[in-house]
Amino acid sequence: MTGEERGPDVGLGDWTPESLDVPGEVRAVVSAPHPVLSRAADEVDPTAKETVQLAADLIATMRVSPGCVGLAAPQVGVGARVFAVDVTGHPKAVTVHGTFVLCNARVVEATRWKPGREGCMSVPDLTGDVKRASRLVVEGDLPGSGEPVRLVTDGFEARALQHEIDHCAGLLFLDRVAGAHAVYQRKVYL
Ligand SMILES: [Zn+2]
Repeated sequence: MTGEERGPDVGLGDWTPESLDVPGEVRAVVSAPHPVLSRAADEVDPTAKETVQLAADLIATMRVSPGCVGLAAPQVGVGARVFAVDVTGHPKAVTVHGTFVLCNARVVEATRWKPGREGCMSVPDLTGDVKRASRLVVEGDLPGSGEPVRLVTDGFEARALQHEIDHCAGLLFLDRVAGAHAVYQRKVYL
């Protein structure tokens, strides 16, 4: 047993935000201690019109936010299990799936846990060291088609996915740090 027989990606294919076929609007990002950030979000119908609009809005909001590599629906005040990720061009990223949105995502395999520094638009003044799996398999549904997706990833993209899945479970990185010694005052955003 190596634990590394993870198989291939399934379903994302050449998905692009344009396939949502609706323009995204930039939404206001809420900060802790807003209560929507600390409760488990609801499962969504990935084919519903409001889910597709939410997906487009998450991408639009992520794109106007410098340094933002992921944004979850609770961060725009919506208690739905939907998030966007895009680590394209990030110096720490190895595997990169481009811009994508997942609905109802869950971790199915998580191995090789490593600490790393994280920040969050909803916790603007702090960063923290969080242990995350550096090898990860995630399953979820694509907004619009509702097609099931399986993503196999690693390193920085794996970290971003775990951070966003946590948001959908009502958890912030602050809930994952080892203690106050692992929290740092942020000097600049990025
Ligand atoms: Zn966050």
